Amino acid sequence: MESKEKKSFEDFGLSSEMLKSILSMGFEEPTPIQAKTIPVLLMGKDVIGQAQTGTGKTAAFGIPIIEKVDRQINSVQAIVLAPTRELAMQAAEEMNKLGKNKKVYALPVYGGTSIERQIKALAKGVHVVVGTPGRVLDHIERRTLSLKEVKIVVLDEADEMLDMGFVEDITKILKTTPETRQTLLFSATMPEEILKISKRHMKSPERIRIATDTLTAPKISQIVYEVRNADKLDALCRLVDFGSEGIYLVFCHTKREVDEVSQHLRLRGYGADAMHGDYTQAQREAVLKKFRDGRVDILVATDVAARGLDISSISHVVNYSIPQNPESYVHRIGRTGRAGREGVAITFVTPREDRQLRLIQSVSKAQIKRGKLPSREEVLGAKLTSLEDKINEFIDDKHFDKFVALAERLSAKMDPKDALAALLKFQLEGFDKPVEQEAPASLNDTGASPGMARLFLTIGKEQGVRANDIIDAISRRADIPKQMIKGVSIFETFTFVEVPRDSAEKIIEMVHRSIISGRKVAVAPAKPKATSRR
Ligand code: ADP
Ligand code: MG
Repeated sequence: MESKEKKSFEDFGLSSEMLKSILSMGFEEPTPIQAKTIPVLLMGKDVIGQAQTGTGKTAAFGIPIIEKVDRQINSVQAIVLAPTRELAMQAAEEMNKLGKNKKVYALPVYGGTSIERQIKALAKGVHVVVGTPGRVLDHIERRTLSLKEVKIVVLDEADEMLDMGFVEDITKILKTTPETRQTLLFSATMPEEILKISKRHMKSPERIRIATDTLTAPKISQIVYEVRNADKLDALCRLVDFGSEGIYLVFCHTKREVDEVSQHLRLRGYGADAMHGDYTQAQREAVLKKFRDGRVDILVATDVAARGLDISSISHVVNYSIPQNPESYVHRIGRTGRAGREGVAITFVTPREDRQLRLIQSVSKAQIKRGKLPSREEVLGAKLTSLEDKINEFIDDKHFDKFVALAERLSAKMDPKDALAALLKFQLEGFDKPVEQEAPASLNDTGASPGMARLFLTIGKEQGVRANDIIDAISRRADIPKQMIKGVSIFETFTFVEVPRDSAEKIIEMVHRSIISGRKVAVAPAKPKATSRR
């Protein structure tokens, strides 16, 4: 046991190259899990490390691994196993930053991407492999990867790997490593079952735990709103509009829900994108890149897709659907408030989910406050204030000569106050705002019957709309006979219709952003998956 906690990276006796890397990564001092585990790991002991998400577990094992790699030996000396491709990628990235000055290289090896390229990279010789169990085993079986010289094995996010049924693969992988290896296990939660299994593979491991009463980070303010299912989308929009600007990660239970919520947000003019299990590796990387680059500020995802994502700029986590269990709650909200930043965790609960919320509260010891949604008036007030600020900035800038003539014409015709008010409404209601049409669903693949296309409209039962209103509006605006509009299915907040494929473009052009039953409606090609899957 450490008698005194080390306070600085210098105290660990690390190499100067390593200290240089740590410095250039901007780490000022070790996090608690790093302070406690790094000395024990450097001594060569097996460790079971438990600390909440976002507390720097990767560097906790990454630093000792890189220090222990012998660059003179051209073989894999450490292997890190992680449950998902994203986690493997992120851990490899972090380790490569740490290993930069020592010229130690970590290769990520995961499924869903070309195995040939990985084989080539492995053949060149790497010191550290970070991979998902399935793909690692695949390489071992093809004899493109040998773990005979491995000194350290890490099971990262061990609980998740167990959940995902990787136990058998992991056991097989461990069998190919030397008995003398050092075995490490890191996780945010540590169910009994994992401890039992892991002890079979470890030599009198030291258990290092960062106390559970700090399981949820104090810097995350946690708020719960009671919202009916049908009101969730509106509630989300209000909170985004009302809240400070930020980067939102929104969690839903099902892939279908993820698709629906992200599509709705896009149609309402928000920069939103989605990620779930049906996304290919290339698609996921593209979404993540957009998110990191700030081109998307709302990411809607399932737990599996978002597990372990380290995007340090996330300001808000939204539990659009309440997490299934307290561990999942802790994992989800751990996506915000990373590396010392402040974060907000918002949870929507329906009245029936109150018991689940109490369970989460008692197990995670979370301080969750009840919040009241801002009213429409308050949201409008907030928008007007920010609009006023922007206009003031603009006026200070004085670059509007080109518009003076039009302003004179308008104010000659009407009270300038009215002209200005009309302009403000135009601005605020976003009539000029192009709805993001990036990667639109294709009209040829909407899941409609042959010769037809299925369209998605952002209006539903909640707005009191009926099938006839929709058929009338489409027929009138696009000038097509009513009987050609089929399969109207109206949901709480949206509607699907089938129209002849030949007229679909025209219908979208004429009906998109028009008013139906007093409500401005967006229209887009439906995604085929949206209704056929749960
Ligand atoms: P975990 O695996 O515990 O969920 P990560 O290893 O993904 O956490 O680290 C979360 C973030 O914190 C990363 O961006 C990482 O670079 C950063 N980080 C790690 N250690 C430190 C440190 N000592 N000081 C500041 N930031 C750190
Ligand atoms: Mg981690």
